[in-house]
Amino acid sequence: MKQKEIAALLDEPACAHNHKHKSGCARPKPGATAGGCAFDGAQIALLPIGDVAHLVHGSIACAGNSWDNRGARSSGPSLYRVGMTTDLTEQDVIMGRGEKRLFHGIRQAIDAHRPAAVFVYNTCVPALTGEDVAAVCREAERRWSIPVVLVDAASFYGSKNLGNRIAGETMVREVCGTREPDPLPPGIERPGFKVHDICLVGEYNIAGELWHMLPLFDELGLRVLCALSGDARFREVQTMHRSEANMMVCSKAMINVARRLEEAFATPWFEGSFYGIADCSAALRDFARLIDDPDLHQRTEALIAREEATAAAALAPWRARLAGRRVLLYTGGVKSWSVISALQDLGMTVVATGTRKSTEEDKARIRALMGEDAVMLEEGNPRTLIDLVNTHRVDVLIAGGRNLYTALKARIPFLDINQEREFGYAGYAGMVELARQLCLTVESPIWDAVRQPPPWSGTSAEPPRPLQEVARHG
Ligand code: SF4
Repeated sequence: MKQKEIAALLDEPACAHNHKHKSGCARPKPGATAGGCAFDGAQIALLPIGDVAHLVHGSIACAGNSWDNRGARSSGPSLYRVGMTTDLTEQDVIMGRGEKRLFHGIRQAIDAHRPAAVFVYNTCVPALTGEDVAAVCREAERRWSIPVVLVDAASFYGSKNLGNRIAGETMVREVCGTREPDPLPPGIERPGFKVHDICLVGEYNIAGELWHMLPLFDELGLRVLCALSGDARFREVQTMHRSEANMMVCSKAMINVARRLEEAFATPWFEGSFYGIADCSAALRDFARLIDDPDLHQRTEALIAREEATAAAALAPWRARLAGRRVLLYTGGVKSWSVISALQDLGMTVVATGTRKSTEEDKARIRALMGEDAVMLEEGNPRTLIDLVNTHRVDVLIAGGRNLYTALKARIPFLDINQEREFGYAGYAGMVELARQLCLTVESPIWDAVRQPPPWSGTSAEPPRPLQEVARHG
């Protein structure tokens, strides 16, 4: 990737903070790869495309970096879960065998799996040795007549977020617009019911939560041409140019995709979230607003009224149990504000939220929801989180899996909200699931049990002997 192209991706005009004087998207800093390198970001963004062979061109450690570490689900092919790498060694570098290994790697992936396409992820080593990876991809595509797409996101180009954007940019440049959508089956459209095509950008179908929304879109007559990239297929990404309105679900990861699709195909877009009743309804209304079809508008209002009433009835018993509970939220991006509104819907109080991966727009939304004095955590090391829990008498910590052991060791109820979570919280049904999981977490009898003084403290009872001693003396 050329330096000019990297600079352009680092200067995303759709980010509001880029309009300020002397401002811009974050530049890479030393140590930036500690939270995931650019390759990691690129692969995370595209890995959920289920029928593609994702081939990592680099040392074997790169493939282990991000493979399958998110709970993105597929309703069909599971090829995306097969880890593929060219496994470059020192010998390959010394002998200049990298390009050959890649060529054979692509052939093996095609022979073994007949994928819809092969995505080749460039990494540090081949980028440093100056391999012509693009030429190998072109030749392989010509030889086997299967799209071979180079995702050129070597780590030293920049941060993980830059990797997300490189992935999105590659899709817009190389894949979108290379196929037309399938015609609608006859009889679907009728007077007063026109089907409109839409796309979701930055939706990863974690724990299958996109499936909470798809039946609603179907009912409204909104055909989701592609969700980039949750439960996506290569042939769907090819048709994104025909979308009538796009929703950008995760602002930081792929904002460039929504903007570039607007520039190239004049597709209007909005930023939204499916977390929480209010945001979910707002997202559906935004589609109706952008598409501007009076029948769709009417259908949307009727559906929202029905879904909100159903969700309110389902949430009532949970609300009574959760109201007044205090939450510390430590997550990033769209979730840093959209989950706040979901929790407030449940009558809970959010005492602080993490903003390490939030954009300026995310922070403005947080202030709107929590007030100007909102506590925002840029850095949430374990000590800070535990101190906040104690000072604010927090009932539950909602964060990513890496904070799980911090919480459990400090005996704090914990709910995983990030990519490793087991349950989908998007949509109206997801909100009920979120309430249920919060209740199960906060009300678990384990917290009372582990917070009691141990049976031997303050009594004459002896503490249990260490296991080694038990083993030695019986
Ligand atoms: S691309 Fe570079 S930084 Fe990223 S995992 Fe591979 S070697 Fe490490």
